Amino acid sequence: MNYNKKTVKDVDVKGKKVLLRCDFNVPQDKNTGAITDDKRIRAALPTIQYLLDNGAAVIACSHLGKPVATFDSYVKKQVEKGKDPATVTEESWKKSLKKLSLAPVAERLGELLGKPVTLAADVIGPDAQAKAAALKPGEVLLLENTRFEKGETKNDPAMAKALADLTGEGGIYVSDAFGAVHRAHASTAGVADYLPAVSGFLIQKELEIIGGALANPKRPLVAILGGAKVSSKIGVINNLLEIADTIIIGGGMSYTFSAAAGGKIGDSLLEADWEDYANEMVKKAADKGIKLLLPVDTVIGDAFAADANSKIVAAGEIPDGWQGLDIGPETIKLYSDAVKDAGTVIWNGPMGVFEFPAFAKGTEAIAEALSKTDAITIIGGGDSAAAVQQLGFADKMTHISTGGGASLEFMEGKVLPGVACLLDK
Ligand code: ADP
Ligand code: MG
Repeated sequence: MNYNKKTVKDVDVKGKKVLLRCDFNVPQDKNTGAITDDKRIRAALPTIQYLLDNGAAVIACSHLGKPVATFDSYVKKQVEKGKDPATVTEESWKKSLKKLSLAPVAERLGELLGKPVTLAADVIGPDAQAKAAALKPGEVLLLENTRFEKGETKNDPAMAKALADLTGEGGIYVSDAFGAVHRAHASTAGVADYLPAVSGFLIQKELEIIGGALANPKRPLVAILGGAKVSSKIGVINNLLEIADTIIIGGGMSYTFSAAAGGKIGDSLLEADWEDYANEMVKKAADKGIKLLLPVDTVIGDAFAADANSKIVAAGEIPDGWQGLDIGPETIKLYSDAVKDAGTVIWNGPMGVFEFPAFAKGTEAIAEALSKTDAITIIGGGDSAAAVQQLGFADKMTHISTGGGASLEFMEGKVLPGVACLLDK
């Protein structure tokens, strides 16, 4: 995939209506609907402000959560959940949609921009059309949740065209929703068939830094892979085996590697179906001359709990009734040494159950080691980003990807439909 894409700076936006796909999929309080973290809205501000400052009118759009777009599918879903179809009303469906309205986002965005943001009552319907037609340069309109339209997730060309038509003559599509670029939906990819399509600043940065590290890394390139499961990281391991100089394995998935090598792992996380694969990976790395590091010791607990009793044992020597919940001190030393002289470090997946303070040391020590290197440091993956933030190292990293699933697919070397659809430079 070509990562060198045109950006908002490569097109003339003056006097144009710009359809801007954002990632406003914000977390909300279950009861009040209040936005609990507006980071994603703030992240969109530089691109929006640039467009406004340069004379564009901005028609912003985003999905929020997983609304069910038709009453029929809503009934089906409720029945699957065990509800009697006779009790599922159209009213309850509409209520479920209302909960996923972008109204709180429009309000927050308006506060952050310091100017009112109008919310359309629909996505491509009469209200969106009328409000888009009346929109002036310097003004911002926000469409309703794109997933209120059933054509969104199906990447329906009719919906994509209707979105494009909102921009009138000479419109432009700008994508800045990195968190959604791995999805081929009408508002993330399909719409680019009908409008010139470029990236905003968020996507530009992701492409420059992650794309740069994958295509032409400053070496040595060290990949740190952890997290819960081998099975969810196969694609990443495979792709990084093609480009990394060193691969470091930690977290829950390391115990499957340990078991595959004949170690005793007690009650640790094990994916028995993936043991052969783990052995293959170790062999492949050796054949390619790639250094593959596995834990030499591990912190174990007598339960999966924050207050579990803990002790340190050698890797592969975990007694029954105990489970590995973090890497041990010798492993921390080994791994910290391995990143010291790196040119680039890509990190995906925590080294242990960092959510429990007693088992967060490994993840914290690796974050600290990264903060001390001169390497380009890239964090991908939702939980990894959360861990680095929670442990206070966020501002010490070169780049923390804003997309969980999207950054994983990026690291797997997959084509991202929401990037592939943008104009090449
Ligand atoms: P990311 O979202 O960054 O891709 P993952 O979702 O793969 O990361 O993994 C994160 C989860 O892995 C965390 O919730 C963490 O608690 C869990 N984890 C890490 N080490 C272990 C372990 N030894 N046993 C069980 N779970 C673990
Ligand atoms: Mg995760």
